[in-house]
Amino acid sequence: MNTPAELAVSDHDHDYDYVLVGGGAAGLSLAYHLAQEPRLAGQRVLLIEPEAKDQNDRTWSYWAAEPSLFDHLAVGEWDKIAYRSPGFSHVLQLHAYRYRTLRGLDFYQCVQQALATRPAQFTLVRGTVAALTETATGVVARTAAGPAYRARYAFDSRPPTIERQPDKYRYLLQHFVGWEIETDHDVFDPSVVEFMDFRGPQHHEARFIYVLPFGPRRALVEYTLFSALVLERAEYETHIIDYLHNMLGLTSSQYRITAEEIGAIPMTDHPLPARAGARIINLGTRAGRAKPSTGYAFQRIQAQSARLVAALAATGHPPADPTGDRWQFHWFDTLLLDIMQRRGELTRDLFAQLFRRNPVERVLRFLDEKTSWADNLRIMNSVSAGPFMRSIGQVLRGRPGRRA
Ligand SMILES: Cc1cc2nc3c(=O)[nH]c(=O)nc-3n(C[C@H](O)[C@H](O)[C@H](O)COP(=O)(O)OP(=O)(O)OC[C@H]3O[C@@H](n4cnc5c(N)ncnc54)[C@H](O)[C@@H]3O)c2cc1C
Repeated sequence: MNTPAELAVSDHDHDYDYVLVGGGAAGLSLAYHLAQEPRLAGQRVLLIEPEAKDQNDRTWSYWAAEPSLFDHLAVGEWDKIAYRSPGFSHVLQLHAYRYRTLRGLDFYQCVQQALATRPAQFTLVRGTVAALTETATGVVARTAAGPAYRARYAFDSRPPTIERQPDKYRYLLQHFVGWEIETDHDVFDPSVVEFMDFRGPQHHEARFIYVLPFGPRRALVEYTLFSALVLERAEYETHIIDYLHNMLGLTSSQYRITAEEIGAIPMTDHPLPARAGARIINLGTRAGRAKPSTGYAFQRIQAQSARLVAALAATGHPPADPTGDRWQFHWFDTLLLDIMQRRGELTRDLFAQLFRRNPVERVLRFLDEKTSWADNLRIMNSVSAGPFMRSIGQVLRGRPGRRA
């Protein structure tokens, strides 16, 4: 017997192969990857997104050693990053890697334009999906406004609702406020990203300044924390101003703010499964693509999109394992999160040890979860054992560490 959802749907002429629920980074990335695959040109794709996506609501930065699909949109590309802390301050040459930054709006427009050239394949609907259910043969996406859409598979990137279990898992955020500023004289070195500048007070947390220099007089300067609670807006701004005044020697009349960026990205080992059913695949943050120990997600989203499209093209179905994550890296993330939750101020020294005692490519490959067992051991041997041993104990006991 048909469910009410199926009956309602059969009244409409809505029939798709794939429904993409949410058209932010993950939904649009998957759509773009689908559009690049000639073997899937005959598949009908519906994308449901409530927002127009006509604002520059974020910038995405990522590192990569290989060319990737959105490199052409980069508004900045660097081959050097700086790590700074009281004990270790160094400019690191990235060798084969490049650090790149895209503007959200350029990404949204690029994908929207690409989809618009294939109207037979892609349909975009402005709407909010209120319920996504599986049927015997597919899925039904019911929108808040009423219409329901039927498809063979759903790819869901709605932000996850996390019911916290603090006795079992760790919950931190990568949160930040950034100012894009223009200065009246040359201040920035446009060849070096200030990746993590931990020289300021840590307040028992991990707090650093991040600078993307777009030119000698233009940069995005962010005050970033890995911690449990967001701050009052004014507190981030005070720290940005401190950096501009005390580190860069700028007075308030020597710069102006041209744009702002605010964000809070989940950093958690709470399970965020990449599959919600046989026919519902999760994407993006919902599928744990924000790396728990760093908050970086963009390249992980691209990797998942490529993996899904390769399987769809080869077999007609999504892969049994939609992410290909390796368990040992989840374990490393949990350990790092545990240390950050217990003794956030140690993060600065841990990253200093990583960058001081390893080639930068090894550290980036490790954070990309592409290192071998031998390299993982080298990474583990390069950091102080104490905090890890304590957190290994916490993990084995199944109890997240807390600040004593
Ligand atoms: C300000 C900011 C900066 C970031 N910078 C970086 C960075 O530099 N590098 C990096 O790797 N990562 C970065 N991230 C993390 C990550 O890449 C982004 O959060 C990314 O946007 C996650 O993609 P997503 O598709 O999961 O979520 P989103 O891009 O937020 O997309 C989710 C979409 O779902 C839609 N939606 C919500 N509810 C519904 C509903 N009921 N029905 C249908 N659609 C719905 C939303 O409107 C939204 O468009 C940043 C995050 C933020 C917030």
